[in-house]
Amino acid sequence: MRDLLVAAQTEESDCAREQTKAEQDVDQVRQRAVRDQQRLDSGAVTSPKDLENLQREIASLAKRQGDLEDVVLEVMERRESAQERVAELTERVGAVQGKLDDATARRDAAVEELDAEAASVTKEREVVAGSVPDDLLKLYEKLREQQGGVGAAKLYQRSCQGCRQELAITELGEIRAAAPDTVVRCENCRRILVRTADSGL
Ligand SMILES: [Zn+2]
Repeated sequence: MRDLLVAAQTEESDCAREQTKAEQDVDQVRQRAVRDQQRLDSGAVTSPKDLENLQREIASLAKRQGDLEDVVLEVMERRESAQERVAELTERVGAVQGKLDDATARRDAAVEELDAEAASVTKEREVVAGSVPDDLLKLYEKLREQQGGVGAAKLYQRSCQGCRQELAITELGEIRAAAPDTVVRCENCRRILVRTADSGL
């Protein structure tokens, strides 16, 4: 839309230049006609042939002036429609720019919020990670890398929430028998399983 606006502005200034030029042409012809008329009125020209030539020139200048005035009018019309386009496009560019500014402000606010959230979550994670034994943390990090960012999953109603597979009866039996601090893993996806009251054991 800015390109269209620039094109319309260029056309407008081209028309302005054309108009000035056409008006100068009209002026020149008019001045020449005035001079001729003064010569005619002064009575200085006496020869019939010269008089006839002078009158013919005055008539031809009047015709020429009329044609040039038509050119001025035509240029003025084009200039006016270019000005209308410039006004319309300026308004449209302004409206879109307003929307863009609004979206940018909302995006910046959202990024700021997300940065703050990321900082707070990072701090929280550091605290939690500090309480996890080193070897378990290492296993978790390795799994997380292998399993698309999720290294541990909740065991919910006998299903692993990492791979969404229901565990086999024998596996569930083993998990049920395991001590609470034993690290149990999903047989299917190998993620660490987190047991809760909803695990269905
Ligand atoms: Zn799984």
